[in-house]
Amino acid sequence: MSPAPPVIWGHHPRAGEDARHPEPLVVGIDLGGTKTAVALVDADGSVLDRVSTATPAQDGPEAVLATAARLTEGLVAGAPQPVLAVGVGSAGVIDPRTGVVLSATDALPGWTGTRVADLLAGRLRLPVTVDNDVHAHAVGEAWLGAGAGRSSVLVAAAGTGIGGAFVQDGVPLVGSHCAAGHLGHIAVPEALGVECPCGRSGHVEAVASGPALHRLYLRLGGDGSVADARQVVSRAVTGTDALAVQAVRTSATALGRVLGGLANVLDPDVVVVGGGLAGAGTLWWDALREGVRGETIPLLAELAVVPAVLGADAALIGAARRALSELAGSSA
Ligand SMILES: [Zn+2]
Repeated sequence: MSPAPPVIWGHHPRAGEDARHPEPLVVGIDLGGTKTAVALVDADGSVLDRVSTATPAQDGPEAVLATAARLTEGLVAGAPQPVLAVGVGSAGVIDPRTGVVLSATDALPGWTGTRVADLLAGRLRLPVTVDNDVHAHAVGEAWLGAGAGRSSVLVAAAGTGIGGAFVQDGVPLVGSHCAAGHLGHIAVPEALGVECPCGRSGHVEAVASGPALHRLYLRLGGDGSVADARQVVSRAVTGTDALAVQAVRTSATALGRVLGGLANVLDPDVVVVGGGLAGAGTLWWDALREGVRGETIPLLAELAVVPAVLGADAALIGAARRALSELAGSSA
């Protein structure tokens, strides 16, 4: 499969910009329901400067984009060389070819249908690319994080939900409806009969996300005063609560099972796991890897399953990478 042809929106060369040998400096934007983070990124993926603020989600798409544009303009004004493009990793299902939001949750009211690429390009007078934030996160990890130097990388993020992406040669698999990577919605026996946030039941997200781990612990008969997944994990780590250990093991094994099955389908060079739960410690990781090994076919016995390393920068760097790729494609 070849990547979609590059689409550049409204690139207007500015005074002083050398069109023949432009320094490829770009801005990466991580646009989430609660926070908007913006970074100045060079061609090597180094973050030169950054700024972030709360996303004014309740004020609607206009306000959200105005905030992202204002932060970007601040970084562009202070940049040592001209900024040539902007890459956005946005919450919601995004069509990366058009930069339009195909669907989004209530975390960003009115976001569905927003022409993020066009509107931002109009404000900034720079070409703008847009990807789903989880896809951008995966591209960042595959480029400069735990997947660096590998050709195919399966990335999973386990936090308040379960998501991910398969990245081949720097390009995330997007799919027919731009919905690829919803790996939280695969059935596992551990979740049999448990309702999933998507409305189905039995999906891995129903036992393997942070909130789901907490609910699993309570279903097992755990201490009702335990408030969240973080507390379940800390009880499991200290070994004082057998039900917490059981919940963590069950939850991580279920996710590992899904990653093992996906590895059988996709045959990645490496599996990278990030998100809040990736910080849950050895017990969680041992169970996750056990789950993977329990599913993979013998050919994949040596498959490495490793923690993500870029943290919150991954989406910024991945979004910047897309912008740099489009620049390279447009000058080729
Ligand atoms: Zn589901």
